[in-house]
Amino acid sequence: MPIVQPPQAPSPHQTESIGKRFFWLLPGVLALVFVGMMALWAELNAAQSHKVYQETLVADALSVEAQLSGRQDTERVRLRDVAAKLTLVTRDPDSNLARMPEVVAGLDRLWNRLVWLDDNNQVIARAERKASLSANPSEELRIQSTGQADHYAAPIKDGQGINRGKLLARFDITDLLRSTDLVWLNRRYEVNFVSELGEVIATTASVGRPPLGTTYEKPLAGFKNTTLRLTPFEAPESWRQHPKTLALLSGLMLLGIAASALTRHEMRLVVRANAQTQTEIAWRQAMEDSALVGLRARDADGRILYVNKTLCDMVGYSRAELVGLVPPLPFWPADAVDDMMARNLKTLAGDAPAMGFETRWRHKDGQLIDVMIFESRLVNAKGIHIGWMGSIIDISERKRLEERDRQHGETLAQHDRLNDMGLLASELSHELNQPLTTILSYSAGLNMSLKQLAGVAPDDLFAMNEIVRHAGKAGEIVNWIRRQASRSELVRKHYDINAIVTDVLQLRKQHIMRAGAKLISDLSPDGAEVIADRIGIEQVISNLVRNAVDAVNGQPRGGVIGISTKLLNGSNGGRREIEVTVRDNGPGLQGRTLDMLCTTFYSTKSDGMGLGLGICRTIIESHQGSLLAEEAQGGGAQFRFSLPVVTPSAL
Ligand code: ADP
Repeated sequence: MPIVQPPQAPSPHQTESIGKRFFWLLPGVLALVFVGMMALWAELNAAQSHKVYQETLVADALSVEAQLSGRQDTERVRLRDVAAKLTLVTRDPDSNLARMPEVVAGLDRLWNRLVWLDDNNQVIARAERKASLSANPSEELRIQSTGQADHYAAPIKDGQGINRGKLLARFDITDLLRSTDLVWLNRRYEVNFVSELGEVIATTASVGRPPLGTTYEKPLAGFKNTTLRLTPFEAPESWRQHPKTLALLSGLMLLGIAASALTRHEMRLVVRANAQTQTEIAWRQAMEDSALVGLRARDADGRILYVNKTLCDMVGYSRAELVGLVPPLPFWPADAVDDMMARNLKTLAGDAPAMGFETRWRHKDGQLIDVMIFESRLVNAKGIHIGWMGSIIDISERKRLEERDRQHGETLAQHDRLNDMGLLASELSHELNQPLTTILSYSAGLNMSLKQLAGVAPDDLFAMNEIVRHAGKAGEIVNWIRRQASRSELVRKHYDINAIVTDVLQLRKQHIMRAGAKLISDLSPDGAEVIADRIGIEQVISNLVRNAVDAVNGQPRGGVIGISTKLLNGSNGGRREIEVTVRDNGPGLQGRTLDMLCTTFYSTKSDGMGLGLGICRTIIESHQGSLLAEEAQGGGAQFRFSLPVVTPSAL
């Protein structure tokens, strides 16, 4: 048994673009880009911070330098003030110097020794600080003294501006640092004053607090060969060393990866579901398209929403041509549009018969098709009635078979009637044979007697002669019918066709005259010999003439019947034939074909049996001839038949 393969939905890989296939990577990539941008931003930020940090370091160094320089300048100015006042001191210079308030203040402030020298550098007086300077109140400033000292010098001039010596103020650099407000600096940096030999002159180094940052050194203006070295306690923190930042960025990365993984999982589910849906759609489509039933969905206004392939094939219109159309529809026959419109309205109103209804559509190629339509309500997922679903079955073939059966039944009935008539004809001919034979023998005897009698009027003799002839012909016909009915072998002999025609015309003469018709005969001068059943051929010609007479009977312009024979030399495949034509100027065939006219019992006459032409055709065909019917030139009908010629009688 063949295995049914499901219709294949297009593979997701075939239909999806690369972008769609790797869409799931997007969250991860975005997270990566975001983290990268954050890192870049942090890096730039760190660089900026470092720059600011460096600038702050330089600015702080400059600030320290400026502060110390200012302090030095102040001290020098104060020393100069003291020097200016020394010219007034003449007696006991030591004690006077030591008692000078500015000197006292200077010793308290910074100076540890003040020396007054004359212009020969001989000490005139000196004053020294007794106690060491009090420690800086700030605990934060821890300056370790290294004993490095420096001094300020101020010239001493008399009233005329003549140099009288100089005043030297010695001070400890550590005291200078201690007395300078460097607390703010000490909070940030380890401050070192370094000599040119690299020896630390003064320092704020603290054991418990190691410096971290990059050291910055600057030669200190105002101090001989002294460098200021600042080493920050705090270095600018890199984001890379910041665990929270790293955790945040790592978390973001993980979130992105997790989102990608989830998206991938979801996409796989969607792709699988999509493939399943596609397969189901393909199945449904395949089923709908291979269904023998046409399907048509319409909305509540009758607009076509969907048609399957079967329906398209049924009516010959494509899906694109049909979907969206509203009645009247193109496959409705033009002469039935009103009826169909009315039925359509009934259907849309919900009055379509539940058992379906039959109607007739027209295929795009013009052919009519019989269809059976079943309408059912179309409801959406919420159960709301949104239109109508029609199932359409093409019943043309069924109808055709039904029609054929009907015709077959009729034919059988006709055959039955023909059989009955055959039997009747057989019976009648049997019954008529005896009286006809009697009439013939008596009339023949009477005819003989009359001929021997003298004084019999010629008309009486002629009449008697005709009675004998007609009785003989009647007997022949009756015998022919008997032979036909009994299917006994028909007698065929050589006959001149013109002689048969002449005989028939003779017999039909009265009939033609009674109808007031004019007979024109045009017989082939050559004549033609045929092998024929004479009575049968006579019956054919007689029937054609009788029909012609019936056709022209009552013709206002006067009936004309023409009969002709014509020799056809090899027109039918080289066969020599004689053609017999009977024409009239009656109403003509009026579009009817010979097949129609030969249909058994077809007759337009009140007393007609509708058998004549059918029998004629059968007789002609049994002689290898053919019967034709056509419109005659100038109006009327024309019947022709041809028979094979044996030997032209003229030869
Ligand atoms: P019947 O003569 O009994 O009607 P036929 O078979 O001889 O039966 O003819 C069938 C029909 O053919 C006639 O009824 C008539 O309508 C038509 N017919 C036959 N011959 C002619 C003719 N010459 N002109 C017009 N119609 C004819």
